Amino acid sequence: MADTTLMSIPGQVDPVPVAREITPRADGRVDLIGLPKKDIAVLFEGAGLDARQAKLRAKQVYHWLYHRGVTDFEAMTDIAKTMRPWLAERFVIGRPDVVEAQHSTDGTRKWLLKTPDGHEFEMVFIPDADRGTLCVSSQVGCTLNCTFCHTGTMRLVRNLTIGEIVGQVMLARDALGEWPKGKMDFAEVEDEAEYTADGRLLTNIVMMGMGEPLYNFDNVRDALKLVMDGDGLALSKRRITLSTSGVVPAMARCGEEIGVNLAVSLHAVTKEIRDEIVPINRKYGLEQLLQACADYPGASNARRITFEYVMLKDKNDSDGDARELVRLLKHYKLPAKVNLIPFNPWPGAAYDCSTPERIKRFSDIVFEGGISAPVRTPRGRDIDAACGQLKTTAEKKSRAQRDREEAEAAAGA
Ligand code: SAH
Ligand code: SF4
Repeated sequence: MADTTLMSIPGQVDPVPVAREITPRADGRVDLIGLPKKDIAVLFEGAGLDARQAKLRAKQVYHWLYHRGVTDFEAMTDIAKTMRPWLAERFVIGRPDVVEAQHSTDGTRKWLLKTPDGHEFEMVFIPDADRGTLCVSSQVGCTLNCTFCHTGTMRLVRNLTIGEIVGQVMLARDALGEWPKGKMDFAEVEDEAEYTADGRLLTNIVMMGMGEPLYNFDNVRDALKLVMDGDGLALSKRRITLSTSGVVPAMARCGEEIGVNLAVSLHAVTKEIRDEIVPINRKYGLEQLLQACADYPGASNARRITFEYVMLKDKNDSDGDARELVRLLKHYKLPAKVNLIPFNPWPGAAYDCSTPERIKRFSDIVFEGGISAPVRTPRGRDIDAACGQLKTTAEKKSRAQRDREEAEAAAGA
């Protein structure tokens, strides 16, 4: 049986892993990625520029960083030639390190990334006919131990920094070759049509990679602010969805301070089953969760809340469960859509996926109740990129290594 205890940090109301500052680089330079314009200006002033200069340079540099995706100060053509080495001596423009990049036969791509202090995490890109969705991680591992989720079995957990979160989006744009192709001169008036609405691959972002985004609230918020900033990456909040397992006290803040679409990992409709498979339910129960959804700022029929429901054979997939789901969503008058996710198995998982007939029947009952309930097609299964399969290879290896060591010890005893 999986260990479902929450990893608590003394003094915290919730089991929030302690946020860490960006590890200082050995060479003393500061990575600008993850900083908003005003903080860049403060750094420039601290490095010796007068306030007016600092503000102007910060504006220019910000544009090159987040709008153009430049990673070298030398490419910043509207900044004086002599100023560029001055910047390069003090600052860097970082990206997460790529340990491995994989391509699925269905077009899905997965990257294994690494933080400067050696923690690995993953990012997935899922292309579709009319959109391309980047699945972004918020933490290394997850403290929440949902019993069907591979990420929840990782031992190491730390919050990703703002730079590591926004860095995923920037890296994806690098890899997809999707930075604006306007003339490399900031001073010139750019033709918007040159670099917008040009059939971009990356159109949507989901905070559905590793981790519980609402347990890393501040960093996720600040990273998404950078992603949404019209002077920078400029992705609309309507194209961003944050998925939570139900951190009730942070949900209203999410709507107010970030304003993105909400997805909730519901997965069960009774206390007994949800307590078991989504253990945060013992802390914030179903009623509290659904009430927080009903109160979610910005939710409306035009912007419905997505309820994710993983289909686990003989666990949460009966006709009665489907009917109860409809009843609950109606009772709380939720502008809802349901996303049925076939369970993606991983080695050692204690569940099976419901049969296709069962999933179809479940979906039909919810549809008949007047709520849209499409079945999500699993993507990137051949490269372990599907929902809930994210767990780094290093971690898998270390497990295997541990098993081997245990077997050897047992054999030697
Ligand atoms: N921690 C957040 C976001 C990451 S998980 C959350 O739980 O919402 C993204 C989605 O994948 C969640 O709905 C999660 O419950 C689901 N998921 C996890 N493991 C899965 C698995 N093995 N098969 C199918 N879906 C899974
Ligand atoms: Fe964490 Fe989400 Fe996985 Fe649960 S489903 S363990 S909250 S990543």
